[in-house]
Amino acid sequence: MFESLSERLESAFKQLKGEGRISEINVATTVKEIRRALVDADVNYRIAKEFTDRVKDKAMGEKVLTAISPGQLMVKIVKDELVELMGTTEEELDLKANPTVILIAGLQGSGKTTFSGKLANFLKTKKNKKPLLVAADIYRPAAIDQLKVLGGQIGVEVYSEPENKNAVQIAENAVKEAKANGYNVVIVDTAGRLAVDEAMMTEVSNVRNAVKPQEVLFVVDSMTGQDAVNTAKAFNERLDFSGIVLTKLDGDTRGGAALTITYTVQKPIKFVSMGEKLDTLDVFYPERMAQRILGMGDITTLVERAQAQFNEEQAKKLEKKIRQNQFDFDDFKEQLQQIKKMGSIKDLLGMIPGVGKAVKDLDISDDSFKGIEAIINSMTPQERGNPDLIDGSRRKRIAKGAGKEIQDVNQFMKQFEQMRQMMKMMNKIPGGARGLKMR
Ligand code: GDP
Repeated sequence: MFESLSERLESAFKQLKGEGRISEINVATTVKEIRRALVDADVNYRIAKEFTDRVKDKAMGEKVLTAISPGQLMVKIVKDELVELMGTTEEELDLKANPTVILIAGLQGSGKTTFSGKLANFLKTKKNKKPLLVAADIYRPAAIDQLKVLGGQIGVEVYSEPENKNAVQIAENAVKEAKANGYNVVIVDTAGRLAVDEAMMTEVSNVRNAVKPQEVLFVVDSMTGQDAVNTAKAFNERLDFSGIVLTKLDGDTRGGAALTITYTVQKPIKFVSMGEKLDTLDVFYPERMAQRILGMGDITTLVERAQAQFNEEQAKKLEKKIRQNQFDFDDFKEQLQQIKKMGSIKDLLGMIPGVGKAVKDLDISDDSFKGIEAIINSMTPQERGNPDLIDGSRRKRIAKGAGKEIQDVNQFMKQFEQMRQMMKMMNKIPGGARGLKMR
């Protein structure tokens, strides 16, 4: 995400390295580079210029403390401005009403239906809500099925009326159904078109007037760059939406939409969606996004994802096993599965400061773990529970079963043994293993 922008900004800051103090000349060059980087990331020229004018004013006004270099100072100024541009603080959904109605609008293919599923899952698991998903796309029969599949995956009911061609009625009936059956959030997934279109806008407005939603969320594909910003303007003029959802941030997005959409329509980005896994919806935090853009990583999100997957009980069980030197292949496999649930490996690595850039060109697919899993799966239950049992002939059999070479098994066994040695060492430090607890 935004790798090219990150790289360009970093090289702009580098120009200030070694400079004893910030001078007009070196700031001018750096600022010009920053402006070019922003424009190339698909930020509108006028916005980029205003941005760098502010950066320049701030930089010239600052005294450089001896403790930080001009480069570091510049990074801080740019970070603060990025946060400001993207909206300063996170904006929570207004969920007070019972039921709360959330209307989802946007162009076809923007990711509305996928997001509706992610949102329902988010509200159910993180906010303890009982949501009802509503299929109000009356043009694409497949849309109902798509929502039903998603609902099935997350255990959320889907309301639909396949024969009814009146979206307003469907939405109204769904709200009635919610009231009658104790659903406290109603998520209405509306029909989209390929481009901004009067009939679509009228229909969504009519649904809005009928069900009076507390939240109208506009969903937009961040890969479409400045088009995303223009579409946002058109929707906002008609719908006066309450928040923005940026999807497909996992893809090859240059950043323009994320950086300027809020500034342009004066509405907050409430969520960012990365990928098709239903349990990886992130609340949008301008501060964290700015840190990611500047290559500072995003440890906070990483820790939160981890906390969502590992519960206290599992952590305790694991800690006990480690302390008693009983960590075995079953535990190892369980850990792998937890990590995989946290999101794509590359995305996770990108949240560690400095690592995102280093791994950007590497082909790290989520299949990387498959080889290891195949090896573990090829072991018998006894072998998994007693790693010391595994001798040469067993290794040969395991390799064969996993479709691997004996060297692969040897290497994995060696790494596993090193890991266990480390755990043993940690146990000798008082309270050492306790440091492994996830929360
Ligand atoms: P809708 O027409 O607006 O309801 O869009 P869909 O939810 O059907 O999504 C359109 C396509 O984009 C589907 O193939 C989705 O799997 C894909 N998609 C949705 N959200 C994301 C995302 O955050 N990242 C990626 N990579 N793909 C997404």
